[in-house]
Amino acid sequence: MTPKTIIEPFKIKVVEPIRFTTRDEREKLLKDAGYNPFMLRADDVLIDLLTDSGTSAMSAKQWAGIMEGDESYAGSKSFYRFEAAVNKITHMKHIIPTHQGRAAEKILFSIVGGPGKYFPNNTHFDTTRANIEFTRAEANDLLVEIGKHPEKRADFKGNMDVEKLEAFIKEKGAENIPLCMLTVTNNSGGGQPVSMQNIREVKEVCNKYNIPLFLDACRFAENAYFIKMREPGYKDKSVLEIAQEMFSYADGATMSAKKDALVNIGGFLAMNDEELAMKCRNLLIVTEGFPTYGGLAGRDLEAVAQGLEEVVDEHYLQYRIRSVEYLGNKLVDAGVPIIEPPGGHAIYIDAKRFLPDIPPEQYPGQSIVCELYLEGGVRGVEIGSVMFGKYDENGKLIPAMMELVRLAIPRRVYTQSHVDYLVEVIIEVFKNRDKLKGYKITYEAPMLRHFTARFEPVN
Ligand SMILES: *Cc1c(COP(=O)(O)O)cnc(C)c1O
Repeated sequence: MTPKTIIEPFKIKVVEPIRFTTRDEREKLLKDAGYNPFMLRADDVLIDLLTDSGTSAMSAKQWAGIMEGDESYAGSKSFYRFEAAVNKITHMKHIIPTHQGRAAEKILFSIVGGPGKYFPNNTHFDTTRANIEFTRAEANDLLVEIGKHPEKRADFKGNMDVEKLEAFIKEKGAENIPLCMLTVTNNSGGGQPVSMQNIREVKEVCNKYNIPLFLDACRFAENAYFIKMREPGYKDKSVLEIAQEMFSYADGATMSAKKDALVNIGGFLAMNDEELAMKCRNLLIVTEGFPTYGGLAGRDLEAVAQGLEEVVDEHYLQYRIRSVEYLGNKLVDAGVPIIEPPGGHAIYIDAKRFLPDIPPEQYPGQSIVCELYLEGGVRGVEIGSVMFGKYDENGKLIPAMMELVRLAIPRRVYTQSHVDYLVEVIIEVFKNRDKLKGYKITYEAPMLRHFTARFEPVN
């Protein structure tokens, strides 16, 4: 038979209890946290969907690798296992471990960035943009038009607009573009995948102007699985083969292993260019450590190597993508507005459509985030005007383009009954949406205010 039920492709060996609280307790806890779930203690959260970064459950084999880690300062056995695992997927000549993704970005852009330089991407992730802008270079997003419409469905809403890319190169001059990036999947754009055809076409344009192509490869396996499911010609290829083909068009990659390497810390920088690799390694020694450990313990390198083998397992990816889609479909069926179709690692609730009567100045996304916690102990994150809003010269809010609430799903952590519970909580909040209040900010830091801001409900 072909079973209809997709089961978690693991059984549970170690459990970590989650703590139940009452609504009364949560009302007090949230008030004490200034109505900002970032300020809650994780122990007071029942289901934590703040991020999928570094929150994966490791496998028995990864934990065994932790015990086997070789902590030699130079030339550790664990480094060679890590290098082989990354090489098997990327076929890159130079593989440089870092303590997480942004450390790889920091090293790369410190070398290739600088004033007068431009870096196109489908959509830059915040740390990528910050590392580019820190060198006083420009980070440019060239996402396809359909990717900007949350309510429209398409298979590859993470693609780069290839025509815009070519026009951009002509305008800025190829000599001012040290490299072009593609983020797979497109995290800031809702976890939407990039097609193989798009990667190929971007590479062709880059080749024409002699610009190297780098992948921001944090979710390469989820992207490869979407290609297998959705792109003609790939259904009989393995996810590993698809990933290898994706990397075959790239000249380099940055990676946060906290995503698709199924570990709690780690990352890498990979490339084919020998001279660039030498410069990167020299900087690595100053900022991260010796090139065979790069800011990580030997045991962490073992866990990454093992995680990279496990993440291309198709039963794992089927469960992973299906469980996010399952949550998304249940919400859509109940009329809850989300970014469609569901992405690889998260569901994004469209707060503008969820709470049309709460204006951006009263932060509708924050209102939903607070209510999800009060209703069911669920923690999500506002990705809207709290996170990206700015002020004009009169102190008036310039709202973000979208008001979203992200529910990121940690890998291998929650089971279907957790997801069913989530569906219940979200639908309950949606039914009572008329009772939700807006919020005002009572304290904010000058930068990255969403982490520490304090709020009060508006009456
Ligand atoms: C998480 C992430 C990064 C940064 O990685 P860290 O490990 O958090 O430093 C870069 N790009 C994308 C697309 C990411 O999702």
